[in-house]
Amino acid sequence: MAEQDDLYILRHSTAHVMAQAVCDLWPGAKYAIGPPIEDGFYYDFELPEQLAPDDLAKIEKRMRHIVKQDQPFTREEVSREEGLKRFADQPYKKEIIEGVEEEEGAKGDAVSIYKNGGWEDLCLGPHVSSTKKLGAFKLMSIAGAYWRGDEHNTQLQRIYGTAWPTQEELDDYLHRIEEAEKRDHRKLGPQLDLFSFPEELGAGLAVWHPKGGLFRKTIEDYLKDLHLQRGYEIVVTPNIAKSILWETSGHLEKYAETMYPPMERTHEGGQTEAYYVKPMNCPFHVLIYKSQTRSYRDLPMRLSELGAVYRYEKAGVLHGLLRIRGFTQDDSHIICTPDQLVDEVIGAFDLTLEILKTFGFEGPRIALSTKPGVAIGDEEMWAKAEEALRQALDKSGVEYELDEGEGAFYGPKIDFHFRDAIGRLWQLTTIQVDFALPERFEMEYAGEDNERHRPVMIHRAILGSIERFSGVLIEHYAGAFPLWLSPEQVRVIPIADRHHAHGETLVARLREEGIRAHSDASSETLNKRIRDAQMQKVPYVLVAGDKEIEAGSVSVRNRAGEEKRGVPFEAFVARAVAENGSRALETGNLDELG
Ligand code: ZN
Repeated sequence: MAEQDDLYILRHSTAHVMAQAVCDLWPGAKYAIGPPIEDGFYYDFELPEQLAPDDLAKIEKRMRHIVKQDQPFTREEVSREEGLKRFADQPYKKEIIEGVEEEEGAKGDAVSIYKNGGWEDLCLGPHVSSTKKLGAFKLMSIAGAYWRGDEHNTQLQRIYGTAWPTQEELDDYLHRIEEAEKRDHRKLGPQLDLFSFPEELGAGLAVWHPKGGLFRKTIEDYLKDLHLQRGYEIVVTPNIAKSILWETSGHLEKYAETMYPPMERTHEGGQTEAYYVKPMNCPFHVLIYKSQTRSYRDLPMRLSELGAVYRYEKAGVLHGLLRIRGFTQDDSHIICTPDQLVDEVIGAFDLTLEILKTFGFEGPRIALSTKPGVAIGDEEMWAKAEEALRQALDKSGVEYELDEGEGAFYGPKIDFHFRDAIGRLWQLTTIQVDFALPERFEMEYAGEDNERHRPVMIHRAILGSIERFSGVLIEHYAGAFPLWLSPEQVRVIPIADRHHAHGETLVARLREEGIRAHSDASSETLNKRIRDAQMQKVPYVLVAGDKEIEAGSVSVRNRAGEEKRGVPFEAFVARAVAENGSRALETGNLDELG
């Protein structure tokens, strides 16, 4: 993409100018490498002193000076020998030139150098024509980084920056970052008392607090009920299984790297067995299918489980709830005849759109992923499976993109990505067609012809996992969930001590109607208690004192800070029940109350 190339060149050129500015400001600075990255660039330095955040403004100022001078970028090719001379006082550049591997700036016997003003860098380019051609930039942060990423090497100081063609694009980007930070589920989760990651558990393992438990229950109840309505059956399977299961399924062969190591157990008879904690639920569902002789009349069979799985993700990729080692998939396996396959996939599409819409996500980006490098099953199986997914997509009339080689090891898949409130795309739903597992486990059904046939299997997770989806929901709503998802829907605040009993009566009445309500009878001031409820993002706050008790009314506040006094309590109850029951995504206008 030309636009991305231009951005790459712009960011890379900005990195040069930043390094030049640092060298101007800190004589003797040793500069290492400075590539463009997503949204910006960085450069690593060895400096005589530790940089402070204030230094970023100083460096930016110097960069602007260099930009104003409109220094042309010129390229020069010199021999390695000459290169070593030029960078005699730059040990990192020398190491790159000496390195046998072709790296930035070192090509065969010659090295490529880019120069602007009096400053030069090893670099293959290309660059913008002159420093005045740089766009809008900002230096973002300072971090430590080891030379060549190896902790045995010198620790360098890394400066991150961002660069965009125009000031407007830079401002948009900074605004997006600010929004994303405000929405960060790793901050909001503990703040809303939903979950935490205690160190004692190990990285990537979360505990869910009472409010998080309620939040999950709401999601899980909705899912289970809907699945039962749609002809799915709910199953439950254990967290561990013997190695033989994972040998048959192919996981030990193709997926072992992502699995936790085995637990060995010596039985009374003296034989030792290895158990693995499950990374996927599929083989268990296969065993449920195989527990009886099946006929075509049993198909399609749609087995559904909120199944806990464990995957040893690399520490570097862990990210709050979004990338986690222990999680609960909303996992279903549809076992059907080849004839039923396309319709079952379409059914899974429909269910996906319905569920995601209920949570406030619409207009997915859909991608079909084909056979990856590491895969089980023969070419014919893959071709059949890919064809079925294509047919389902075409029949549904949805637009989709092709992701070559991105399928699962046992079959091609369709992914649904949904956009959140600030425009970020999240991969949530996956639907996979699998001819391989039925083969490996010798699954069968008796056909109308009374012969034995091999069924097909569809793997599908609509939310992905409860954990990941919760993280996405928190960031999408910035923690201010629709009423139906809020763990605490209504908070009652009695004005004075003598109103506490009345507050409890209101709570009891709301709970009778299935509304999650609490009363805050603490001794804090009224304002402080209202503020607390707002911090906790409780959708409705009801305040009641003498006047309200006498009139049978409440004073209602919503999250937007609007207030309506003298609302008949039962009118509010009806409103809360209606919003909860319809899973409304927004709370209604207060003016229409009472
Ligand atoms: Zn599966």
